[in-house]
Amino acid sequence: MVRRLLCFILLILLLSGCGIQRSLPLPFFKPMTEEDEVKISREFRREAKKHLELVSNPELNRYIDKVARRILSVMGPQPFEYRFFVVKNSQLNAFAVPGGSIYVHTGLIERVNSTDELAGVLGHEIIHVKSRHIARMSGPDPISLLGLLGVFLAGGGPQAQAAGALSQGLAATRQLSYSRKVEQEADTLGVKYMAEAGYDPRGALRFLKLIDQERILNPVDIPSYMLTHPLTQERIGSVSLLVRSLGVQRPRAERPDPIKRVQLILRLEKGEVDRVIEELKKLVSQNPEKAEPKHLLGMAYHYNRMWALAREGYEEARSLDPNIPGIDRDLGRLFTQTGEFRLAHEAFKRSLVAEAKEPLTYLYLGRLFEKESQFGEAVGAYLRATNLSPLWDEPPRRLGVVYGKMNRLGDAYYYLGRSYLLQDEDEKAIAALERAVDNFGEASPRGDLIRDEIEFIRERS
Ligand SMILES: [Zn+2]
Repeated sequence: MVRRLLCFILLILLLSGCGIQRSLPLPFFKPMTEEDEVKISREFRREAKKHLELVSNPELNRYIDKVARRILSVMGPQPFEYRFFVVKNSQLNAFAVPGGSIYVHTGLIERVNSTDELAGVLGHEIIHVKSRHIARMSGPDPISLLGLLGVFLAGGGPQAQAAGALSQGLAATRQLSYSRKVEQEADTLGVKYMAEAGYDPRGALRFLKLIDQERILNPVDIPSYMLTHPLTQERIGSVSLLVRSLGVQRPRAERPDPIKRVQLILRLEKGEVDRVIEELKKLVSQNPEKAEPKHLLGMAYHYNRMWALAREGYEEARSLDPNIPGIDRDLGRLFTQTGEFRLAHEAFKRSLVAEAKEPLTYLYLGRLFEKESQFGEAVGAYLRATNLSPLWDEPPRRLGVVYGKMNRLGDAYYYLGRSYLLQDEDEKAIAALERAVDNFGEASPRGDLIRDEIEFIRERS
């Protein structure tokens, strides 16, 4: 229903070609409920997958998720399930869709100087969602909002070529621009919560100055972030005052800052492997006593499947500083790939001692068990990952695969269905869940429960 309306509105807007009116002359006009927002979010995610290029690297996605969840953890019960996505796009931008879907561009991750700055952006976007800023804006009702978001996607996506679609997208972006008042609110609460979560609130201020600087350096090309989140000197001033009133707290951020690791992954994914290796080699020779450049160089070699050099980089870095974030997990993955399973287990064990609740480590541990054909253990690891990160679609997908190998087809289809559901692929989810019911048997208690789930998915869509 919602999807059909989205297409309908898109069509009207594209045909009319006269920009977007804030209130479309549609017969149904009602204020947005939280339920509407959840539906909008789900529908937007489906469309976004077609129009935006999303980054699938688990290291990168888990990192964003982790920073955001840490902020959410101090905010109390939330009206929405938040989902975070990274968009492959060089523009400095981040945006939130009502109902809890938040998108961050790689261009923003590449430009920030610290995890604290990124936490500032995420805190701000989360407040826009939590405080239902778009729903509270006098303008769009759910139906016209979906239309606006559709145009925003069609015109604002990186694939948009046609000038018409681009200007439509720009107009939609302007329509979705937040007011001064809600920007202030998102700044104030965002900074408050990020600081409570242990991030340095000065990061939020540095980020605002960063966009301001981009605008001054390149006045023609306004950073996209400023189109939806208008930046004023007033905002910078009030955040500055707020940060001062909070005092400089002792931030709990990890050291060295994992943002460097994430930025390296982005460059490697872009194919800059050789250049990155040259740069890091130079950095290592200039700073032989520092662990971080050696770790990053090891990662670059690892990415390039140069196993021996990767191991050397990791082990040297580890001997200089055993507490570098992620190093034992990297070693565990490397040893899994080279078939040195005993060493891999030791590395993952150390990694879980340092950080017992990291779902990514359990995912990699599951893969190690799979390689050793220890399927029962693999299931245990993937279940841990699922419990730690219930909205992540990869652990249930792996569970589906492993149960398949164990010839437990009911469970295999059940978890594949759950994975599809998390990817917003309702039809595929229903098909898989129905096969799970067939395998468990219609009359079995498990089959009965899954039937209920199928009914629920059908009703909500
Ligand atoms: Zn904003």
